[in-house]
Amino acid sequence: MKNKTSFSLSYALVATLIFLFIQNWLSPQVLNVSYTQFKKHVTEKTINSVVISNDRLKGFEKIEDGKQEPLFPKLVYVTPRVGDPNLIDFFEKNNIDIIAANENTLLKAILSWVVPTVIFVGIWMFFMKRFGQAGGAGIMTLGKHKAKIIAQTDLDITFASVAGQDEAKQELQEVIEFLKTPDKFTRLGAKIPKGILLVGPPGTGKTLLAKAVAGESGVPFFSISGSDFIEMFVGLGAARVRDLFEQAGKTAPCIVFIDELDALGKARGTGMMGGHDEREQTLNQLLVEMDGFEPNKGVIILAATNRPEILDPALLRPGRFDRHILVDRPDLKERVAILEVHARGVKLAAEINLEVLARRTPGFTGADLANLINEATLLAVRQGKEQVEMTDLEAAIDRIIAGLEKKNRVLNEREKKFVAYHETGHAVVAALRSTAEKVHKISIVPRGIGALGFTLQLPTEDRYLLSRTELLEKIDVLLGGRAAEEVIFSEITTGAQNDLQKATEIARSMVALYGMNDTLGHATYRQQASPLLHQGLMPEREISDQTARQIDEEVRLLLDERMKLVLVTLRDKKELLHNVAAVLLEKETIEAEEFASLMAGG
Ligand code: ADP
Ligand code: ZN
Repeated sequence: MKNKTSFSLSYALVATLIFLFIQNWLSPQVLNVSYTQFKKHVTEKTINSVVISNDRLKGFEKIEDGKQEPLFPKLVYVTPRVGDPNLIDFFEKNNIDIIAANENTLLKAILSWVVPTVIFVGIWMFFMKRFGQAGGAGIMTLGKHKAKIIAQTDLDITFASVAGQDEAKQELQEVIEFLKTPDKFTRLGAKIPKGILLVGPPGTGKTLLAKAVAGESGVPFFSISGSDFIEMFVGLGAARVRDLFEQAGKTAPCIVFIDELDALGKARGTGMMGGHDEREQTLNQLLVEMDGFEPNKGVIILAATNRPEILDPALLRPGRFDRHILVDRPDLKERVAILEVHARGVKLAAEINLEVLARRTPGFTGADLANLINEATLLAVRQGKEQVEMTDLEAAIDRIIAGLEKKNRVLNEREKKFVAYHETGHAVVAALRSTAEKVHKISIVPRGIGALGFTLQLPTEDRYLLSRTELLEKIDVLLGGRAAEEVIFSEITTGAQNDLQKATEIARSMVALYGMNDTLGHATYRQQASPLLHQGLMPEREISDQTARQIDEEVRLLLDERMKLVLVTLRDKKELLHNVAAVLLEKETIEAEEFASLMAGG
């Protein structure tokens, strides 16, 4: 948006400058002089020709002998015409060339206005033709000329270069199979996704994974970044997308990778300039191209983003980027593996234990870890060491952590403990409530913005109808985090804000919407729908202040009551909380099976 604005501005500026320049070039410099001075110029022969019109005299500068007469006069002396009867005599005596008795205003107008305007419009049209319409022949050559998209072939990056990310690799395995033997899939009519979105924070290896898919299947790799499109001339982005897909179509099977999809795929219709923004054109072109080719042609589009929530929903529709793969920050075990990959080929001192390093670097991404090894190596080289020592690695860690702290991605020990017990609280309550969804994964690896850890529960089935018990137990699980903090530390933190908000939402829906409260009975009251429960918007209906107060009161009572129950549950399972939290602090993530066995043991 911003880019577009400054872009048009500079356009207008250049155009104006050209216009002024031509105007200036065509029109002579005019000196207004007095009649006496004018006569002096004549006698001194600075003027050698004049134009006499009804009300003024114009004298043109004398061109020095041997020099060529310019097409347009450069300097003109102008003076009012006084009723001097001897004027013509005076000019003739001084050998002045009298050009005309009457000025040709039409010619003047043509010269000073029409000609520049014609030239200006001509230039404008030339530019518009080249950049303006997406699809003109001019733009294609320009697009190709400016930044040709070249496929990388024979990439030697394979899944072995990507440490961890097992789930992502597993999901991408199918794509590799398809690219290797497309026939096998097409024969059975299997549908292969056209677009796969890799979602995760920067530096977690999304690009690396995409390249590895190309490397594993031995197909060419086209890569382009969403932000590349932004600085372009109008229409160029769209042309480039078309160019990209044209090439990809010819090279199929192949992979097209779009990094930073959010840069060009932001939801449309937010531009201040109204409809036709450059980004929007590019995005539309991308959608057209994606819809255009058949799914089994052998072109797989991988895209990466760390902000899936701002993407235009059109991009996520079936047939486009309808498959999402989470590429998250590595946990302890994965960090060890990544360090191993990057420590290959680096001379490390024998005393160095990569697991110790991994323990010291929670929240680091793959890129951070690669950077860590690299910085440490540079430090060692600078000091003329034979091998990289622990002190170098320590120094590099400190440096990177300082950078990450600024971005709020590092927890201190105490915070980490709180987060561990908080997440454990959610998980334990979920395991102890019969209707609650199964715990899939608990993690205290720092996430993006907001959540510090998470407990992932997978729904066992899609639910459209929820019983009162289920709703209450959902509230319990949400309150479990804060309750664990209370039970263990007799202290609560701000980390539960999001949980409380969700719990309140459910409680309010129960009271005001589902008629699940004894005091308020089976009536429903105006309320915003809860997105959690797939409910449409309730029609507007006014409720009295008193009822509103009553609803608030009942919501509060309900939450208090559930909190008491959850506290009782967890006080009873203190030992278990300690056990699970200890494992969590140690490994940073706990998968479903391990959690189940911990629960069984407790
Ligand atoms: P993203 O595309 O997610 O921003 P990249 O794929 O560009 O991240 O990763 C940047 C670098 O970080 C890679 O080139 C690689 O050196 C390192 N890296 C990231 N993740 C991993 C990983 N899982 N295994 C090995 N190296 C990794
Ligand atoms: Zn929580």
